[in-house]
Amino acid sequence: MVTHDEWGPEKIIQVYDAKTGMKGIVVVDNTTLGPGKGGIRMLPEVSVDEVAALARAMTWKNALADLPFGGAKSGIVADSKTLTQEKKDEIVGAFAKAIRNVCPTMYIAGPDMYMAEHEMEVFVKANGSIKSATGKPKDLCEGYSCGIPHELGSTGFGVYHATLVSLKHFGIPVKGAKIAIEGFGNVGTFAADFLSKDGAKIIATSDSKGAVYNENGLDVRELLRIKSRGGSVTESNEKKIPAESIFELDVDVLIPAARAYVINEKNAHNVRAKIIIEGANIPMTIEIEKKLHQKGVLIIPDFIANAGGVISSYVEHIGGKTEEVFPMIERKIVPNTIAVLERSKQKGMMPRDAGMEIAKERLLNAKRFSV
Ligand code: NAD
Repeated sequence: MVTHDEWGPEKIIQVYDAKTGMKGIVVVDNTTLGPGKGGIRMLPEVSVDEVAALARAMTWKNALADLPFGGAKSGIVADSKTLTQEKKDEIVGAFAKAIRNVCPTMYIAGPDMYMAEHEMEVFVKANGSIKSATGKPKDLCEGYSCGIPHELGSTGFGVYHATLVSLKHFGIPVKGAKIAIEGFGNVGTFAADFLSKDGAKIIATSDSKGAVYNENGLDVRELLRIKSRGGSVTESNEKKIPAESIFELDVDVLIPAARAYVINEKNAHNVRAKIIIEGANIPMTIEIEKKLHQKGVLIIPDFIANAGGVISSYVEHIGGKTEEVFPMIERKIVPNTIAVLERSKQKGMMPRDAGMEIAKERLLNAKRFSV
């Protein structure tokens, strides 16, 4: 059962198409600031509860990023791994048609698990509105670019700026700062690239095959070359370390950028990082976050640190250019991270709680001025 409170959800839509067997869910949590924005995930076990929780997370993320977007999310109940691309397209198309009446006025889609550029193209074509989704291919529209590529590294760029602000707050110069990054994927590679160009030492990173370590800083260029040909960081000449030890290294900054709940009851007491920047979504529970905060670890939560992706979606939604993405991410992530850190210091609260307070204030202010 989805619980309801003063923030939402405003609308829960469940759709079914007998012809294709498509079963879908849309939860529009809150549209005070604008149409609900959140990706579509395709999973066999996706439920209304899960979609509602994710939609709520988007309400806070979009409000804190200071975007004119509300919070929403959707799910398609299907196992992508067992579907042919043709069948998957049919299901995505049926879903897009079924929710036509709420897109893009109340809901704007985007890619999430098992959804990528191609599926967003299928979605907008079936939906009939180019504004019904972001994450579209760059060359979808004739004569102008109406999609912003994932390869731009928007989220990693935002993580990089959240890291710079946090290092400054802690009085640690970026040049020579020791950083460990779990997950050398889209978020991790770009964060590593920007930080190493500023002189930070990326001393460890990992992927699904394992982790590598170099006390003097990894050769990030070489790791990027290996990744670009589809290889693993473990194929480099760097020293291999057990993947799980990445969370326990003596570093200035730890950036979890792959999986959920990786910092947990088993390893939290061994965390030695001064700062944790949550590149991944929910890399730890709030309870673990509280414990680490009490130990003096500065944690920039996911909904602040990884908002670069949704800021890029906003630029795409308003028809902006690729070149406008990075400046806007910087303009939003830097002051928002500073505001969160200042409030957290003033009130002695966790950055997460300070961020939630600011997000709620933005919603309440917008409500006051809406008719
Ligand atoms: P990705 O698939 O590009 O990269 C994930 C990386 O994690 C890969 O290198 C993979 O090998 C690695 N990995 C998988 N299992 C691992 C393991 N056991 N140990 C270490 N590494 C492992 O994904 P991404 O887009 O970089 O997303 C990473 C995280 O960031 C996810 O939690 C995602 O929800 C979150 N996020 C991503 C974006 C975005 O725009 N990409 C936006 C917001 C949040």
